[in-house]
Amino acid sequence: MKKYLFCLVFYILLSSGAFSQKTDTAKMKMDALIGIQAKYEEYKNIALDIWKFAEVGFKEVKSSALLQKTLRENGFQVKAGVAGMPTAFVASYGTGKPVIAILAEYDALPGLAQKAIPEKSSIEGATAGHGCGHHLFGTASVAAGIETKKLMEQKKLSGTLRIYGCPAEEGGSGKVYMVREGLFNDIDAAIHWHPGNGNSVMKIEFLANSSAKFRFQGISSHAAASPHKGRSALDAVEAMNYMVNMMREHVPQETRIHYVITNGGKAPNVVPDFAEVYYYVRHPKKDDVQQIFERVVKAAEGAALGSGTTMNYEIVGGTHDLLLNNTLDEAMQKNLLKVGGVSYSKEELEFGKKLQAGFDFKAPDIEDAKNIQPLKFQPGGGSSDVGDVSYAVPTVGLWAATWIPGTPGHSWQAVACGGTEIGTKGMMVAAKTMALMAIDLFTNPTLLQKAKEDFIKAKGDYKYKPLLGNRKPALNYRD
Ligand SMILES: [Zn+2]
Repeated sequence: MKKYLFCLVFYILLSSGAFSQKTDTAKMKMDALIGIQAKYEEYKNIALDIWKFAEVGFKEVKSSALLQKTLRENGFQVKAGVAGMPTAFVASYGTGKPVIAILAEYDALPGLAQKAIPEKSSIEGATAGHGCGHHLFGTASVAAGIETKKLMEQKKLSGTLRIYGCPAEEGGSGKVYMVREGLFNDIDAAIHWHPGNGNSVMKIEFLANSSAKFRFQGISSHAAASPHKGRSALDAVEAMNYMVNMMREHVPQETRIHYVITNGGKAPNVVPDFAEVYYYVRHPKKDDVQQIFERVVKAAEGAALGSGTTMNYEIVGGTHDLLLNNTLDEAMQKNLLKVGGVSYSKEELEFGKKLQAGFDFKAPDIEDAKNIQPLKFQPGGGSSDVGDVSYAVPTVGLWAATWIPGTPGHSWQAVACGGTEIGTKGMMVAAKTMALMAIDLFTNPTLLQKAKEDFIKAKGDYKYKPLLGNRKPALNYRD
């Protein structure tokens, strides 16, 4: 009787298509894992080329071109220079619904040039370095896209796959202009990742962020012979910073405010007639960021008034916090577990141990890179323009161990790891997991529907408004 019942259930499953759909998806996933791994050398070389280019935000000409070329050669239609950004692109394959996006980044950070060795050593003639691993980010996303496209073709899956080439994540808010332009309007879900020092789903709190450059104009004069005729723009910057630093006591606890003086005059014996300070204001809630930012502007106005200078400011970037999607996070976790973490060779372990020996904090076990962290919310983090994408469409991301456990982002150690197979092995974890996630989204309409419901609930009645207003992309913000 039991046997008969089992056969009946089996028959119903088979005839309903549910069983074959499941086995089909499992087979596709297996094919994706094998297919991506088979092209490891190719993707490694692309990533290492972009690591060497090390181009900063909006200057990623060669990096963007290489990724576009790779996508074109693999059958994608590529539209470059979207949303007013010469190094942005959208690559497409397929037609109709669903429309799934995979995000790619490729900008480097200024001042972080570093050789791929476990001790601090800059590269002669270079200034920038991939301290945030975006060379791996872009390459893994392209790899996931190519593999997913191959399977869509083979299995005749309906739908559209898009790879978004997003420039200037580091302070340039590239994605915000793409969202503002409506480039995500027909997207059903977006997948992204970020290099990191462990493997986990990105169930994290990202801070909303507003950044601006405050410029003061004064009057120059001989600092010793005629100081009374001068009005120091640097005094204004210092007065502004002093006021903002006092303000720290009177802002909500989770606020983060940072600045660098990007121009403080040229010579001590000349009263500086120009000075500039570059500010970030961050908080988990975008409304708080806006209010605190307005108070920072008041401090700048007060500083100008008191120092006899004039002030203007330019909003440089503005990003939303991250809207999480529980449905997609859970699906991503399953896929990440299927892929597994990173194992190091003997040489890589030695490299890693040397790096860890230089940390002035207790480093986690180096073998942690093998593990997948349990799915749980991580409070407090940086900011990312992925936040704005997450307010446009259901969005899901992961971290993959591309840096030796314990390595801080934006460090020379992160640049060093990124230039070795420690980085490119971690990149493969991301590429594979994103491809599996894309397969789920193309083959499981229920998952997509649930993700949409999560998204609508999390967003509530908020009407998207970019924090950087209607300014054009700050193409020269790194000059
Ligand atoms: Zn980054």
